[in-house]
Amino acid sequence: MKKVLVANRGEIALRIMRSLKEMGIITVAVYSEADRNALFTRYADEAYFIGPSPSNQSYLIQEKIIEVAKNAGVEGIHPGYGFLSENASFSALVQANGMTFIGPNPEAIEMMGNKLAAKQAALIQNVPLVPGTAEPISDTKEASEIAKKIGFPVLIKAAAGGGGKGMRVVENEEEFEEQLNRAQSEALNAFGDGSVFLEKYVASPRHIEIQVLSDTQGNHLYLFERDCSVQRRHQKVIEEAPSGVLTEEIRHKMGENAVKIAKACNYVGAGTVEFIMDEKLNFYFLEMNTRLQVEHPVTEMITGLDLVKEQVKIARGEAISFKQEDLKINGHAIELRVYAEDPTNNFLPDIGTLSVYRTPDGPGIRVDSGYEEGQTIPVFYDPMIAKMCVHAPTRKDAIAKMIRAIDDFRIVGVANTLAFGKFVMEHEAFSSAQFDTHFVAKHFSPEKLIENINPSQEEMDIAALVSVSYIKKDTPAKKVGIVNNQHIQTTSNWKLRSRMR
Ligand code: ADP
Repeated sequence: MKKVLVANRGEIALRIMRSLKEMGIITVAVYSEADRNALFTRYADEAYFIGPSPSNQSYLIQEKIIEVAKNAGVEGIHPGYGFLSENASFSALVQANGMTFIGPNPEAIEMMGNKLAAKQAALIQNVPLVPGTAEPISDTKEASEIAKKIGFPVLIKAAAGGGGKGMRVVENEEEFEEQLNRAQSEALNAFGDGSVFLEKYVASPRHIEIQVLSDTQGNHLYLFERDCSVQRRHQKVIEEAPSGVLTEEIRHKMGENAVKIAKACNYVGAGTVEFIMDEKLNFYFLEMNTRLQVEHPVTEMITGLDLVKEQVKIARGEAISFKQEDLKINGHAIELRVYAEDPTNNFLPDIGTLSVYRTPDGPGIRVDSGYEEGQTIPVFYDPMIAKMCVHAPTRKDAIAKMIRAIDDFRIVGVANTLAFGKFVMEHEAFSSAQFDTHFVAKHFSPEKLIENINPSQEEMDIAALVSVSYIKKDTPAKKVGIVNNQHIQTTSNWKLRSRMR
């Protein structure tokens, strides 16, 4: 494979191209209007414009991407994550046009893309499932009876759901019917498929997932776990490998079960089998993600592997060059997703220009950025600015390194999750590894960040130089100060933005 097109944007397009270049592969980018000047567009050996900024007019148009790929003479297409990465028809279309899809075959994507089909496969393999229904609900009365048997609270989930959407917690029998009706119509509207099913709502769950790697020769390996329990809106924001709570025995058991799932769908490539774990460390299969995950670097850090290179080698038909016994966990890695979101305002996405953007440096720090100083975060896409990962010999060292890295990261101009990351790192629940997916609800409140906001003189200076233009004209001034001999109006929002570098 000498030439590969990356059907994605931002940090992941860049991250994939870096590995491709190291493998001597020519890189091809496709970009939308908003990404004309993006880092990844400029980094690629060749870049082709594919349409207006909204992704349904550019990054999601399969035919356009195929046309560009054919004209450019590429042999493989890497879909990254999101967009077309878990689209079975795209995987098939790439193959039908004589190119290699760097990912699994359409059948595996299809089977694992439907949570119920995935559960059926798990059931056959004797992989533990959360108590619930493995068939879509057709009869409300019957479902209500099952819910009672499972015991409230129960979770109603959309079979075609994803990205934390399509889930409803039902606390008691009285509200069951109404919630079920709502869930069904929501699922139909959002995913074009109204089928929903029931799951016991695990009260204090951890989200633990296993990275798997499968080749075309039928070898399936597990690359240990990632603990992704720090979430907001059922979506991950901090991940680590290994988990702070797993024993060697449970790790091995989860790994073996993940491999069973990969085998059940004849998986090929890098994939992730997600489990939910209760307080007693019982684990249950949730779903399989048939793509590279945002959080894959923490696995790379503890295994010393490059997952993108492994994906390419597998797509070329090569056998995995190592065995399960060769894999060892080396140290501890943590990832913080640096999102353009305001943690003091319900993690609402923010947009704006990165007037100051300086990433941290030093041994054991990896920042996969999608942007550089002076660039604007577009409204059209996922608001992730960068993923920042640290690697150290122990979990304690990794936390200390992450705190240092956050302190050294400078962002002015856009609200972001850095200060939230520091809050988590410094929290006793996190340092003791005693937390679940309710970390944010249980331990975090915006006041706790605002309390800490006490900008240093240096920050005031930086902010004064660059942020004045970001004060919204209609925002009432909260404070007037003198910085660098200039009168500066500050608002709480402005202070926060400068503080949340
Ligand atoms: P999605 O495909 O939308 O990401 P998942 O099934 O992977 O949905 O679940 C996302 C998150 O929702 C999990 O990481 C967990 O925090 C929560 N969750 C899912 N199922 C359960 C459950 N049965 N009990 C409690 N929390 C759950």
